[in-house]
Amino acid sequence: MQQTAINRRKKAFDKYRHTNSYQPSEKEVQAFYRSREWLSVRRKVINRDHGFDQVELVDFGRLIDGNTVHHIVPLREAWEGRADVDNLEVVSPANHNREHIEKGNKQLNGKRKRIEELKVVTEVVSNDKTEEL
Ligand SMILES: [Zn+2]
Repeated sequence: MQQTAINRRKKAFDKYRHTNSYQPSEKEVQAFYRSREWLSVRRKVINRDHGFDQVELVDFGRLIDGNTVHHIVPLREAWEGRADVDNLEVVSPANHNREHIEKGNKQLNGKRKRIEELKVVTEVVSNDKTEEL
């Protein structure tokens, strides 16, 4: 399971790292997170990962529950990978924040970082909504 998660990440980075992606507007991003396509792919990923946080699994070999579905390569950088199950993984809210903050510190300037932080909030909010359905 741990190796599967590691391989999935490598594959996603290889597939989407170098693409010159279409730049979606915030409206498009928000609409995507409310779409049937997202709800359906989200459910598939949770089933595939058995609801376990893949970051915790990769980093520590531990199984803890997760309820957030996270883009390995962010959807704003690889819009074409937004609904690709190979670019998605389950994470817990704590590790989700950690993933985005670490990425933010390494790669993003101030403006971009704020957008990423907004995105974390958006994903968690949309996920919470889904959990109630
Ligand atoms: Zn995320």
